[in-house]
Amino acid sequence: MSLFPQQFIDDLRMQANILQVVQEYVPLKRAGTAYKGLCPFHSEKTPSFQVHPDKGFFHCFGCGVGGDVFKFLELHEKVSFPEAVKMLAQKFGVSLPEPVDGSGDDARRDSALREALLKAHEVAALFFKEQLAASAGARARQQLKERDVTPESIEQLGLGYAPQSRDGLKTRLLAAGFPQALLLQSGLLVQRESGEIVDRFRHRLIVPICRESGSVIAFGGRQMDPDQGGPKYLNSPETPIYSKSRTLYGLNLTKAQIRKSGFAVLVEGYFDFAQVFQSQAAPVVASCGTALTTQQAHLLRRFTSNIVLSFDPDAAGEGAATRSCEMLVTEGFDVNVVALDKGEDPDTFIRRKGADQYRGRLRSSRP
Ligand SMILES: [Zn+2]
Repeated sequence: MSLFPQQFIDDLRMQANILQVVQEYVPLKRAGTAYKGLCPFHSEKTPSFQVHPDKGFFHCFGCGVGGDVFKFLELHEKVSFPEAVKMLAQKFGVSLPEPVDGSGDDARRDSALREALLKAHEVAALFFKEQLAASAGARARQQLKERDVTPESIEQLGLGYAPQSRDGLKTRLLAAGFPQALLLQSGLLVQRESGEIVDRFRHRLIVPICRESGSVIAFGGRQMDPDQGGPKYLNSPETPIYSKSRTLYGLNLTKAQIRKSGFAVLVEGYFDFAQVFQSQAAPVVASCGTALTTQQAHLLRRFTSNIVLSFDPDAAGEGAATRSCEMLVTEGFDVNVVALDKGEDPDTFIRRKGADQYRGRLRSSRP
């Protein structure tokens, strides 16, 4: 059922260093000929996850998962077997053979769909960026300036603007050759009750949401005007490439720093993230939802088990903070909570008082 010749798969499995691959996701410590760490597939406080580089496999005594380097990527990246093969081939500089005909049709279709969805998001991200830089994006640029988001941060975060028109992005994507059905599935376009198919995001500031690897998988769109209709934040729907409950905003930008610093600050919104990130106050990620999910917690644990929650001190924020906090503690994290003043969030606090004072608040945060 493989897309590729068995010999190629066997060779690649030999060539790919499972230890190197797993270590990009899970901190491991040597234990004899094996390496041990906390299992990324279930919650635990003592390591029962092992990698055997000499034998080329991993195994967890806690939850029973195990397999070779392909299996690890399939489980971890939520990709199909052929995609795992491609990722590894690319990583280790091995060129792919021609696919074997007539086998693995489903897997191939699946992986082709995901690839097309990723491509569509790449084109859309570029379109939104161009629009922000164009004259249509003048007000969006002004709003970012008023929020003290620097041009460097705009570039790093890949921010953009979705213009007022109903079909600006649609026109671009259709011209790029994407089928309309695929674009509906991507969530970039929506069908109205009248049957008309239009851009989902219109007249909104656009924040790309990325996979850990940096590929754009979804967008968040913030209202430009309070009276323009629709929610303040409009997000991409769940798609074959995007699962909200499994994604942490900004992790692609801060994961290395989180691992190095040994902790992460968890904030609520895109702009809280932007200020903490831009001011380099601390390594940060954003939940971009009301409360953190257990899947997001598992994702975080690959990098650290020390979390500082920095949510809005308003009622909603405290509710979300309480729920996230309880879940994180249950999952074995050490959790501190930052107290900001009434009416402040990390975004406004840093803009008014600066990164040093914010760092001070982090230091004085309490378990
Ligand atoms: Zn496990």
